[in-house]
Amino acid sequence: MSLFDLKGRVALVTGGNGGIGLGMARGLAGAGAAVAVAGRNRSKSEAAAAELAKLGVKTAVVDVDVANEAACRKAVTDTAKALGRLDILINNAGINIRKPVHELALDEWKQVIDVNLTSMFVCCQAAYPLMQQAGGGKIINIGSMLSIFGAPFAPAYGASKGGAVQLTKSLATAWAKDNIQVNAVLPGWIDTDLTQAARKEVSGLNSMVLMRTPARRWGTSEDMSGIAVFLASKASDFITGTAIPVDGGYSTQV
Ligand code: NDP
Repeated sequence: MSLFDLKGRVALVTGGNGGIGLGMARGLAGAGAAVAVAGRNRSKSEAAAAELAKLGVKTAVVDVDVANEAACRKAVTDTAKALGRLDILINNAGINIRKPVHELALDEWKQVIDVNLTSMFVCCQAAYPLMQQAGGGKIINIGSMLSIFGAPFAPAYGASKGGAVQLTKSLATAWAKDNIQVNAVLPGWIDTDLTQAARKEVSGLNSMVLMRTPARRWGTSEDMSGIAVFLASKASDFITGTAIPVDGGYSTQV
């Protein structure tokens, strides 16, 4: 059996209907995993699931607003009901509200923290008994370059993504005994709906990204497939609590 084979495994990907989440879901499905695509926009989720099914795997569409605790817990049980078990959880759903800290309302702060960070805590907690029962599991939490760096336009987003890395470490240390590996992935600048919006709102962003990224390009959702397969597979069984940049070298250069 290949180190990267995911046949017989079941994954839940929040925000799996587009951008980075869909890139990761494509990787998992390509390696043989059944995938539950979770998001708010059902038609986007159905289109993504239909695309993944063409790779010969079972899929499910799960409706979830990850800002809602009960909905997160239900997304986990819905996945297990539809696909039989849960081995892999990718906490990817995320938003940003781009404002300097002195202009950000408390409600906006809470919205970003709820969607990006609290949902991770709740989904992981809900997934834990299922993974324990299965004899192990893999959790991948999506951070950001703003898990490492600061930006004047992203106070809540940066706090949520820094928190995601620290939460990952706590989960990894708590659940290593259960053979559950928990890692964070820190994408660099990836061309998605989220960053198309950022390009409109943050002046000079496109040229900054191209100048600062040693690879001299934006990442694509396909660039995120391989790391998902690696961290979801047996190949990473002795790797836990890490935060791995997938950034074309962005975080290595001043
Ligand atoms: P997109 O905007 O393309 O995708 C965001 C995804 O999150 C969508 O699938 C969306 O689904 C889902 N989502 C958002 N809010 C909710 C919610 N309340 N409940 C359920 N699902 C939700 O963004 P990206 O693919 O770029 O971002 C994915 C993750 O990667 C985020 O966590 C982001 O912070 C992170 N990231 C992105 C980077 C980039 O350069 N693009 C860089 C670093 C990190 P729906 O439309 O159905 O709500």
